Amino acid sequence: MLRQPTLPKSDRLLVTGAAGGIGRATALAATRAGARVFAADLDAPGGEAQSAGCDVAQAASVKALIAAVTAAFGRIDCAFNNAGIEGSPAPVATMEEDDFDRVIAVNLKGVWLAMKHEISAMLPKGGGAIVNTASIAGLVGTPGYCAYIASKHGVTGLTKSAALAYASQGIRVNAVCPGFIETAMTGRIFEGHAARKEDLISRIAQRRFGTPEEIADAVVWMCSDRARYLNGHMLTVDGGYVAM
Ligand code: NAD
Repeated sequence: MLRQPTLPKSDRLLVTGAAGGIGRATALAATRAGARVFAADLDAPGGEAQSAGCDVAQAASVKALIAAVTAAFGRIDCAFNNAGIEGSPAPVATMEEDDFDRVIAVNLKGVWLAMKHEISAMLPKGGGAIVNTASIAGLVGTPGYCAYIASKHGVTGLTKSAALAYASQGIRVNAVCPGFIETAMTGRIFEGHAARKEDLISRIAQRRFGTPEEIADAVVWMCSDRARYLNGHMLTVDGGYVAM
């Protein structure tokens, strides 16, 4: 039987977007695995973890968040940069500029800002592990949601660049690429589009959407020492969708 990955009790993990489906499931899974978790979202998520409100698109807000985590825990060992929005379903020619800017600000600049301050906090203590939430939308395109697709392709590029820049200093940087997962985000996307969702499910090898917990298990492993040679990797967790 496979053993569950564990995070040493000493590990301190920051999760952004921690009030949402994937972020919350990961905060809970990491806590069960032994980590101390700091949960961040637009409003402080509360619960058992220590938490703070943070808009990842705002530089001052992210800087304050990392200061709060290091003040609470003394250091950051792992970070899951997961906050994200889907934006509007528009293709390129009809996308509104404000929508485009907001999606890029949260999904792409937000990941960069978080990594900038996390890496600065990790370097003096000799390393750490970062997992960014990209998506299968960071690997392949779709006609609509063009800002989302662009932002997630950007996250995969940032992830590879950071992995190469900091590997020699003990920091691993990877991205998880979820397929279609049952969360509030997909609830919004498919609301009133049941037939489209069924059609999509017929094109997923495992014939179902994934659960947030299935992404959480992958992220806990990616943060853990069991994944110590995993670096600059885009881990697709999609029930076989992209393989089809
Ligand atoms: P969700 O909507 O349930 O959760 C997203 C969370 O991010 C929310 O709690 C929201 O408040 C928070 N958030 C949004 N903007 C923020 C900001 N500026 N600052 C801080 N927090 C902010 O969605 P989810 O499905 O759990 O999505 C989590 C991540 O997974 C996102 O990056 C999303 O793009 C990605 N993803 C989701 C799916 C899916 O099918 N659900 C697939 C691939 C990737």
